[in-house]
Amino acid sequence: MLIHLLTIHPPIVAPVFQESILGRANDAGVIDLRVVNIRDFALSKHQQTDDYPYGGGAGLVMKPEPVAGAARWAAARTPEGKRPPRVILMDPQGRRFDQHLAEELSQEDHLILVCGRYEGFDERIRSLATDEISIGDYVLMGGEIPALVLVEAVTRLIPGVLGDIASSEEESHTSGLLEGPQYTRPIAFEGMRVPEILTSGNHGAVDRWRREQALRRTFERRPDMLETAPLSPEDRALLAKWRGEG
Ligand code: SAH
Repeated sequence: MLIHLLTIHPPIVAPVFQESILGRANDAGVIDLRVVNIRDFALSKHQQTDDYPYGGGAGLVMKPEPVAGAARWAAARTPEGKRPPRVILMDPQGRRFDQHLAEELSQEDHLILVCGRYEGFDERIRSLATDEISIGDYVLMGGEIPALVLVEAVTRLIPGVLGDIASSEEESHTSGLLEGPQYTRPIAFEGMRVPEILTSGNHGAVDRWRREQALRRTFERRPDMLETAPLSPEDRALLAKWRGEG
């Protein structure tokens, strides 16, 4: 997958693309992460990317031409034979990002993520986008952190990115449930012991315990998720029991 991240602040995102799992996947060619400086597409001598809002009011608005120029430049770089890009505006007014959208985007060949700053984009830029995505109901200073959130959530679903450390199936939100508790050494920490079943060597019992724990955790913390989670008859029996106790 090719990902272009369009920003007026490349130094915010560039180090994240070079480090750790993302950096390794990028070096190995599993994904191709590129940062595009929107300022390079500014038309004026002073490379201005923002201007005062028509009609007055506080703050500055991102000028449309540099953003459009950068987005078109990136869109022209879709590798041959690949599907056209999703051009995504990071925007608090957009569709709320979640695991389902991450899974959908992980199937794409080319993503172009456009980061706003200041008061946001000139309205006319929306006509260039295929998507507008918000990472949650709060307002940040720029689209860079939201774009990185999206890149992490999407790329870790691409085969080969996580390598051996992949553990996606039981993960919170992937299975429709929250993941249950996990433990590593030491076996006793400040008086708290690892549940004995995990050291029993009985894999079937461990699997059943994990499922029950995931169900319990979802029941306690996010009962709304149980309405859409795929549940077995055993799961339903447990839930009925807990509800009866409640
Ligand atoms: N004035 C705008 C907010 C601008 S915030 C409004 O009221 O809708 C500046 C930029 O930060 C936005 O253009 C967007 O790219 C980014 N941003 C801020 N919060 C975000 C969020 N929750 N999700 C995605 N992008 C966000």
